[in-house]
Amino acid sequence: MKSKTPKKPALGESPSERASAAGKNPPQPPFFKGGSTAPDEKGGAAPDAAPSSPAFVEVAVAAFVPDSLTYSVPPGLAGSCLPGRRVVVSLAARTVTGWVLGPAPALPPGVKVRPVLSVLDEEPQFPASMIPFFRWVASYYFHPLGETIRDALPSGVSTGESLALTLTDKGRAALDSPRTSPERRAVLEALADGKEHPEGDFVGDRGKVPRPLLLAMGHQGLAVVRRKVEKPPVSTRTETWVKGLKAESDAPARVKSRHRALEILAADGPMAARDLKARVPAVGARLSEMAGAREVELFEREVFRDPLGEAIEPDAGPLDLTDDQAGVLDSVTKALGQGFSAFLLHGVTGSGKTEVYLQAAARALAIGLSCVVLVPEIALITQMERRFRARFGDRVAVLHSGLSAGERLDQWTRIVRGLAPLVIGARSAVFAPVPSPGLFIVDEEHDESYKQESRLRYNARDLAVLRASRSKAVVLMGSATPSLVSRFNAEEGKFTELSLPRRVYDRPQPETVVVDLRGNRNAGPVLISPTLENHLSETLDRGEQALIFLNRRGFASFPMCPACGKAIGCVHCDITLTYHRARNLYLCHYCGYQRSASGGCPSCGEPQVKHLGMGTEKIQQYLEDRFPSARVARLDRDVLARKGALVSVLKGVKNREIDILVGTQMITKGHDYPHITLVGVVCADQSLGFQDYKAAERTFQILAQVAGRAGRGDRPGRVVLQTFNPEHFCVQAARNLDYEGFYATETAFRKSLAYPPYSRLAQVRVSGPQLTRTRDLAEDLAEAFHGLLDRAPEIRAAVRILGPVECPLARIGGQFRWQILFKGLTYAPFREFLGQTVRVLQSRRTAPGFSAILDVDPVNML
Ligand code: ADP
Ligand code: ZN
Repeated sequence: MKSKTPKKPALGESPSERASAAGKNPPQPPFFKGGSTAPDEKGGAAPDAAPSSPAFVEVAVAAFVPDSLTYSVPPGLAGSCLPGRRVVVSLAARTVTGWVLGPAPALPPGVKVRPVLSVLDEEPQFPASMIPFFRWVASYYFHPLGETIRDALPSGVSTGESLALTLTDKGRAALDSPRTSPERRAVLEALADGKEHPEGDFVGDRGKVPRPLLLAMGHQGLAVVRRKVEKPPVSTRTETWVKGLKAESDAPARVKSRHRALEILAADGPMAARDLKARVPAVGARLSEMAGAREVELFEREVFRDPLGEAIEPDAGPLDLTDDQAGVLDSVTKALGQGFSAFLLHGVTGSGKTEVYLQAAARALAIGLSCVVLVPEIALITQMERRFRARFGDRVAVLHSGLSAGERLDQWTRIVRGLAPLVIGARSAVFAPVPSPGLFIVDEEHDESYKQESRLRYNARDLAVLRASRSKAVVLMGSATPSLVSRFNAEEGKFTELSLPRRVYDRPQPETVVVDLRGNRNAGPVLISPTLENHLSETLDRGEQALIFLNRRGFASFPMCPACGKAIGCVHCDITLTYHRARNLYLCHYCGYQRSASGGCPSCGEPQVKHLGMGTEKIQQYLEDRFPSARVARLDRDVLARKGALVSVLKGVKNREIDILVGTQMITKGHDYPHITLVGVVCADQSLGFQDYKAAERTFQILAQVAGRAGRGDRPGRVVLQTFNPEHFCVQAARNLDYEGFYATETAFRKSLAYPPYSRLAQVRVSGPQLTRTRDLAEDLAEAFHGLLDRAPEIRAAVRILGPVECPLARIGGQFRWQILFKGLTYAPFREFLGQTVRVLQSRRTAPGFSAILDVDPVNML
């Protein structure tokens, strides 16, 4: 009989088990196995299912179990254990939720299988067709399958487990005993009324009583502990609708509202009570009376909350495309429904990519296929959503982290039911459960925010390509500055390159002025050079708008004490704190640590700290002083923290109630405001200094993108680039909008050092609360990884191991950070190697607080 412990199941696995599993789920690396037996820790507690019964299901449980498990289906649940639905199952001593993947083959006689305990959903949370995709994602990122599914679903959709306790006689006796600890006593006292209490009710002197203590009390017989699966925290909302049953009311003629309401219902059909009341205000008080008289029927209907909470006016319909646009649309349209194709749309800023997206989406919908549009940031989703809603109305659903859990569940449900064939969202929307995906659009495909930096560390751009290929769909990736990797893929023939080389109406690209900041060294730090200032005042005089870009929020990035000479740093990180003037505090942008700015220097008490270094707050202040009559606004994460602020700022720009907008990266992308004619870049070198092979690419992209915000209307645009490195090839390429020049220089560099696209990367990040032990762990691991190479020459030829080295950000949030980088020169052996490293990582028991995680295709090298 097969028996496994669920904690570290991948370890003692025999080669034969691996071999048999490999045949079953071919795309999975050997580390993942399909459908092993649900661990039955007591052996024999579970009822045997008849071997002839088809009633076994494969379940992916939301836990760190590296594969799916087989459970039996009790007769009562036979009809409802269907793919995509959540079930409650036992896993060792716990009850956990999982997702049914499908029927599982009957197991050999004698193997104990535990039953599914209950089914949570009446409809699936995702179509069964997505299951192979989830399997692939799990295996590619070496993430457990159930965890992968859970991380893919929006948080309003999943549930957890909770405990409920009832007092026993032994517990009652313990209440009187002086030996009972205060925390136990707090629990027992809460239970003294004899009723069952949820775990949230138990609060001791030190806050919520921890779960292990509650479980221990169960074991000691002081209480009966019951495990409950929590209901989803939200459910869909309903509202009352009215349906007319009669044409004429029996009411006396003076009760006009009843007559009028029936007329309206007869003419327009059933409607929300709210809408009916809007037309016949007096009917509100009469509805129940009318229902009693069988004149109308009242019923509840689900409503979907509009995340913007605003009516969006329909647009005038598709625009007449330019020849370039028509050519691009034609290529995409021809491919729709014809199997997998991947297009890279290289379209300069203002070339009308969005109009192409809109029309391509319309073509997909017209042939019954759904379309998923990915946008890198919430700030952009709002804009994209408006444009799509204006054309497609309520066929649009949106998914992003800015929605409340309730709103997310609503949107998700509409998508699963096929009510919203068009989905717009941030990276997680790549998992949108559209029933028949035909087109995936990835806007700003180069953007690094497509990478998720926790839990399942996926890249949504890559997954869009993968999902499209699995569902025989088309993926259209657009950018004015395609990532080096995507462009390389196009050259290799993996993607088809399409281009929009001109702006709509042949509007000129903005002209760029480079301002050399080095000359000003003696005059103190420059925020806004005289050149930029002149351009600003001319722009304002003409009644036009300006964007000023600085990728750092706050007031001062380098607060320093003039008395003791120390920079004011974070206590948890090797980072200086940023001074935020509006909030009067010093804030760590990495761990969130904050301290009041009132106390002066924390080392010597000097009250007058110097606020060196700049941030958007300081720039805003400076501009308000220099241009007192201009309306200056700011957009960065501080501003975004206020609900509704984003929409109101963007509206202000659109309605020209804002003259100068100061902001971080958030303002560089996507936005299309025709009256912005000047873009100022306060410091073009900001991202060049990072110790990261991608620094140049990132810098070029930011500069080209922000420049692209200028001159999108009838008037030509101008860009002023302030820099300490005017000769740097990035700055030069951005100034001349020379993507090809940038690409040639940068690819040569990558090739010489075997960085992507000439290799694949993966990174092991090691962290822990003590420096030496963290370093030791990193060194230990690196040695084990080298050992893997020594054993396999074919892998050794394909893999380079770099490090361990201390991360450039050596300590964050009290955690010391080390990294080991893997470079893969050939795909298959590299993947084989990564599978082996995962087993090494799992076999190391790391002490509490220490961790070592594998990040496949890492983006953050700091
Ligand atoms: P991109 O996303 O490539 O930067 P947009 O799609 O935002 O560009 O288009 C820039 C502007 O040009 C928008 O205001 C858009 O409405 C307009 N536009 C796009 N295509 C056309 C067209 N075919 N005819 C007229 N205006 C267009
Ligand atoms: Zn910190």
